[in-house]
Amino acid sequence: MKPLLAQLLNLPGIEVEDYHELGDELILEVEAIRDFATCPRCRQESHHLHQNRGHLVRDLNISIFQVLLRVNRRQFKCKTCGKPFSEELDFIGRRRRHTDRFAEMIVKQVIHSDIHNVAKNNDLTDAEVWSMVKYLSKKKWTLDLSDLRRLGIDEITLRKGQSDYVVVLVDLDKNELIGLAPSRKHEDIEEVLKSWGDEVLNQIIEVSIDLSGNYKSLVKKCIQNAEIVADRFHVMKLVNEEFNKVRNREKKAIEKNPNTVEKERLKEAFKQSKYALLKPEESLTEKQKLKLEEIKEVSPILAEMHQQKEAFRNIFETAKDWRDGAVKLLAWMKKAQENFQDSVSTIGRWFGEITNYFDSRTTSGAVEGINNRLKLIKRSGYGFRNFENFRLRCLMCWHLNLSSA
Ligand SMILES: [Zn+2]
Repeated sequence: MKPLLAQLLNLPGIEVEDYHELGDELILEVEAIRDFATCPRCRQESHHLHQNRGHLVRDLNISIFQVLLRVNRRQFKCKTCGKPFSEELDFIGRRRRHTDRFAEMIVKQVIHSDIHNVAKNNDLTDAEVWSMVKYLSKKKWTLDLSDLRRLGIDEITLRKGQSDYVVVLVDLDKNELIGLAPSRKHEDIEEVLKSWGDEVLNQIIEVSIDLSGNYKSLVKKCIQNAEIVADRFHVMKLVNEEFNKVRNREKKAIEKNPNTVEKERLKEAFKQSKYALLKPEESLTEKQKLKLEEIKEVSPILAEMHQQKEAFRNIFETAKDWRDGAVKLLAWMKKAQENFQDSVSTIGRWFGEITNYFDSRTTSGAVEGINNRLKLIKRSGYGFRNFENFRLRCLMCWHLNLSSA
């Protein structure tokens, strides 16, 4: 029975000395087969057993049994330095109340769920689950930035309607989250960047940013070899937002129309016209296509702006190289100047960074997906009261190197 239990337990080098069955609990008394241990101070092997020290730890279930191991972590006495020491066991950390593989099983669940549910489903407290997350992050963290060449910087707000931003740093080639800063403050972001070391920062060749103006000087200061590229999707957003502003203005103006019949007709045409106007034309549904025709008919200015918005998007789809893109963009700015005053002025200020895109084709498009995942974590995030916990919980989705996670 004991050899069979040892086989089921499947911890190499460990034997089962005894076992006790208590309802659906199985307690296995285990210890290492080898009869020596290595002194942590002088690295000498000692065969001189000093005393036995049992403690209970939780392990993976065997069949229907919840398994507790009574692990004998033996103390040996070192002949060289004369001091007693406890043996190292590779399946369990010091003072841990769970085996490493049990912690891995729990943390894998956390990646796909949230701390509170995982705790509940496994008869653990939230604090115990957190402690396993922290323990394994220290042990199995692999944030390798040696291949980082293209960096994306973006931000998300975690509470709706709040301006407390978290800054998201992404490896754009691997499409991985590689850092989070607790705010948009330069010193907070700089701290994360500096922690990567000069060697990593010096090899970054491109940084993709939004048009907020918050990151440009910081990137120039900290990442000196990089070309700054204005993210294409943020540029598009700028144009779309101005377009929508005009749509809202026109919609409001309907109320002033003295002709009630005409007023109702216009109202009907504006209803649900937002996405028909803003979405790329080729991805409209049949219903939205009809809506687009309807709104274009009643509003000449929106019809014109729609055409200009599509032309703008087209430049990014079709420009062959930097020169071609720059020429087309300049021509667009001239034509759209009147309708898109704010956008044209911002594009003018960022012309270099925006046209860099036509050479590099770097976008932070992938960041969107990462941001959505972060928001999901936040929403399901029972217990993320502090930023450090949140950061750890997010980064572990990409960098916790668990066996077959
Ligand atoms: Zn020693």
